[in-house]
Amino acid sequence: MPTALARPLARLIDELSKLPGVGPKTAQRLAYHILRTSSGDAEALAAAVRSVKTDLRYCSTCFNIAETDPCAVCAADDRDHELVCVVEEPLDVLAIERTGQYKGVYHVLHGAISPVNGVRPDDLKIAQLVSRIKAGGIGELILATNPNLEGEATAMYIAQVLGNDSVRVTRLARGLPMGGDLEYADEVTVSRALEGRRAL
Ligand SMILES: [Zn+2]
Repeated sequence: MPTALARPLARLIDELSKLPGVGPKTAQRLAYHILRTSSGDAEALAAAVRSVKTDLRYCSTCFNIAETDPCAVCAADDRDHELVCVVEEPLDVLAIERTGQYKGVYHVLHGAISPVNGVRPDDLKIAQLVSRIKAGGIGELILATNPNLEGEATAMYIAQVLGNDSVRVTRLARGLPMGGDLEYADEVTVSRALEGRRAL
């Protein structure tokens, strides 16, 4: 870092470069942009960053990130509460919501089983999913974990844990790019995968 760089600017560049996908060049460009922007816009950005750490919580039913508990989806009367879509991450909920097709509710696992990365079933919201099913009122579980090794292993594990419980367990249809992430798939692909889901 050149010494001509004022310390507050260097600090901002340093923080921005910690963001995923932001290299030193992009961090510099963003920092200079923020410097030139109005005080109001810069304050709004700072407030938005602060707000995601102070104003958000986890829904105690589906474990999605929300402003309220239960979240808006779990609290909605016009959603099908017998249909639960199980996803790895909150961003996957957005991918399925983008299709505009899905009227059920969700369960967010917050990851996938991965022995390589030391992620065990206990580290995920699987026990919470099982108690949710035991509590009754759920007819079908759509396992929408990612179509990669970890996602498949997680879907298999959940199906196995549930065994012959009274709930129908389905898996998204193939057609999603193998090894890909649900969150990056387009609406049409996700829609088709939902429609073509098959029993596990
Ligand atoms: Zn919820």
